[in-house]
Amino acid sequence: MKASKPRLLIFGPQGSGKGTQAQLISKSLHIPHISMGAILRKIQNDDSRLAKDITHYLDRGELVPDELTNKLIAVRLEKPDCKAGFILDGYPRNKNQAEFLSKTSQITILLVINLSDEEGVKRLSDRLMCDNGHSYHLHFAPPQKNGFCDVDGLPLFRRSDETAQAIKQRLSIYHQETEPLIDYYRRQPAVQIIDIDGNPPIPQVYQEIEKKLVIHDKAS
Ligand code: AMP
Repeated sequence: MKASKPRLLIFGPQGSGKGTQAQLISKSLHIPHISMGAILRKIQNDDSRLAKDITHYLDRGELVPDELTNKLIAVRLEKPDCKAGFILDGYPRNKNQAEFLSKTSQITILLVINLSDEEGVKRLSDRLMCDNGHSYHLHFAPPQKNGFCDVDGLPLFRRSDETAQAIKQRLSIYHQETEPLIDYYRRQPAVQIIDIDGNPPIPQVYQEIEKKLVIHDKAS
């Protein structure tokens, strides 16, 4: 992989492994992996009104209001580590967010991980995560030390929004609001769109990404 200020988005249905792949790309390109879900879950740990409001949306599998996610992403993208580029996971999720993002950042690459809903749902059972958004699977991708994250040593937990009802809702939002953004980016000549088959095991999916991810950085 080559790198020159890559500003990537990663899309994929729930269970497609986009968080895991984003983590690998982040390591290889030395750019921050910014997971909106992880940012929100961190705020959820506070004892605040905002934490309660966020929990209300997350546990139902609904999107938290754009006003909040837009503010959070703007603050995060201002941090110095984003000067080298970034990979966004879980943002933007709808047109309003994509338009907001376009005011501050020219995206260079959109990676789309394709997987059927059935396969994604199967993978979500037995998924574990740490507070920073690093994810594992009890059978397909277990952590080295039982119950703890390999990257930062934080305890692993099952997500409260991985109930059948919330998963159904999250998938439905992905198809109705996020997937149409692929066409929105297809209309932007500066954005390279890369399709990836999410079915093979994690290392193979990553190999396909590496092969296809030749960064042109047309926009900088
Ligand atoms: P994720 O970790 O990406 O699966 O996100 C978990 C949950 O966080 C989602 O189901 C939403 O409730 C919330 N969330 C994450 N990203 C966004 C976003 N860009 N806009 C609104 N809600 C979000």
